[in-house]
Amino acid sequence: MSLNRQMKIFTELESEVRSYCRSFPTVFTRAKGYRLWDVNGREFIDFFSGAGALNYGHNHPQIKEKLLKYIAEDGITHSLDMATKAKEEFLKRFQAVILAPRKMHYKIMFPGPTGTNAVESALKLARKATGRQTVICFTNAFHGMTLGSLAVTGNAFKRQGAGVPLNNSIFMPFDNYLGKDMDTAVYLERFLENSSSGVSLPAAIILETVQGEGGLNAAGFNWLGKIARLCQRHKIMLIVDDIQAGCGRTGPFFSFEPAGIKPDIVCLSKSISGYGLPLAINLINPEIDVWSPGEHNGTFRGNNLAFIAAAEALTYWEDNSFSREIAVKGQKIYHFLKEVVQNHPEIQGEVRGRGFMQGIACGVSGLAEKICALAFEKGLIIETSGPESEVVKLMPPLIIDEAGLTEGLRILEASIIEEKNKLKNPLKRIKLKLRSRDNQVASGNITASDKPVSA
Ligand SMILES: *Cc1c(COP(=O)(O)O)cnc(C)c1O
Repeated sequence: MSLNRQMKIFTELESEVRSYCRSFPTVFTRAKGYRLWDVNGREFIDFFSGAGALNYGHNHPQIKEKLLKYIAEDGITHSLDMATKAKEEFLKRFQAVILAPRKMHYKIMFPGPTGTNAVESALKLARKATGRQTVICFTNAFHGMTLGSLAVTGNAFKRQGAGVPLNNSIFMPFDNYLGKDMDTAVYLERFLENSSSGVSLPAAIILETVQGEGGLNAAGFNWLGKIARLCQRHKIMLIVDDIQAGCGRTGPFFSFEPAGIKPDIVCLSKSISGYGLPLAINLINPEIDVWSPGEHNGTFRGNNLAFIAAAEALTYWEDNSFSREIAVKGQKIYHFLKEVVQNHPEIQGEVRGRGFMQGIACGVSGLAEKICALAFEKGLIIETSGPESEVVKLMPPLIIDEAGLTEGLRILEASIIEEKNKLKNPLKRIKLKLRSRDNQVASGNITASDKPVSA
C-alpha cells in the first residue's frame, strides 16, 4: 500500500494540529524495548522515547506482567483521588526508594495526569503560598501548552497559539544565553535586589536543568546553586520542572541532584509511570503545602494502572547501578557526538545536553530536520529540538543495550554524512530538493500546510 493510502484516515480526519505523524510518516503497530515496527513490518530503532515518556523502553516485560495481573484480578482502575492499594503501594515505594535514601522530605501531590497539569498546579501553589503573582522563567523554557504553562514557555510560535495575553511571567536569560562570559545568575540577582529594576519579587522561579524542547541547553551546577540560594534568600519558591530531564534521563533520578539544590516543588511526569501511561506528580516542600482540600483537582488523578507500573519501574532505582550504567552510556554518546562534530566541520555542530538527553546543534539552517528525516528513512526515530529545530536530539530509552545504541548511532552518522555531502555541492543539492519535492507531490503526501512542526 502506498504511504499516501496508509496515512489516509489521519490526513483526512485528524486535525491539522497533528505533528509527530508528519515527522515519522508511517503507521506503527508494535513495540518492544528500543524497537518499533510498522504495518509494513519495518523495524525502527527508537532514539525518541516518546519525548522522554519511555525511559524504560516500550512494554517493559516486568511492568507489563504487573499490569496484566492487576487487570486480571479486577484491581481498581479509576478512583479519582480515593485511597487505593495501588496508590498506597506507589507512595510507599516512592518514599522508600527515592525520597528516604536522598533524605528528601516532600509531600506528594497528584494533579491531572499530564505534565502541564503538574506545572499549572505548581504555579498556583507557589502563588498561594507566597501571596505574590509573578513567576520568573527563562529563555527557551518549555513547560507545557495550557495557559499558565504557556505563560512561562519561551517559544513564540507556541505562545501565539494562546490567542490571549500571557502574563504574570518575567523572562530572564538562561545560563549561557548571553555567552560564556556573562553570568546570568548575577544579572537576575541584580534585577531582584535593585529596587528600581522594575522587577518585583516573584512567587517562584521555574526552570528545567536541561531544556528539553528549547534546544538541550544544560544549566551549569554552579549557576543552579546561585539561583537556588537567591530563591532561599528572598523566599521565592524554586520550581524544578523535571518532567523530561527527571526519572534518570540525565543519569541520577532527579536531574538537579548533582547541583545539590533543594527545590520547593519538583514536577515529574513523562517517565514517572514507566510504561508510557499518563501520570504526573508534584513533590512539595511540606511547609508550603497550603492547599485546601479539592482546591486543585481533576478526574484522572487516580490512574491506578500508572501507579502499578510506576511502583514496579522504581525497581531500577533500588541501588546506584542503573545511574552508573546511564552515565557510562551517556559518555559513549558524548564521545560519538564530539567525534562527529570534529570529523564533519561542514555541519557547524555543537554538542549539547547531558546524559541521555544530548544532541548536536547544527549551524546550517534546516540541516537538523533533514538529518532526522533521512534517519527515519533509514530506520531510526529521532527528532529535533530548539527554537529553529536546529538541534538533532538523541533520546534513546535508558535501557538500550550496546548493540542498539551502536546501531542507532551508526544510522545517525550515515544520515549526517549523506546530508553533509548534499551541502557540499549546491547544484546537486537543488536537484535533490526538486526530486524529493516531486516525489512528495506525486504521492500526494505533502500539502502546503503539511510542513512538519516539531512539538
Ligand atoms: C513535556 C513537558 C511538559 C508538558 O508535559 P505534557 O504531558 O505534554 O503536558 C512540561 N515540561 C517539560 C520540561 C516537558 O518536557
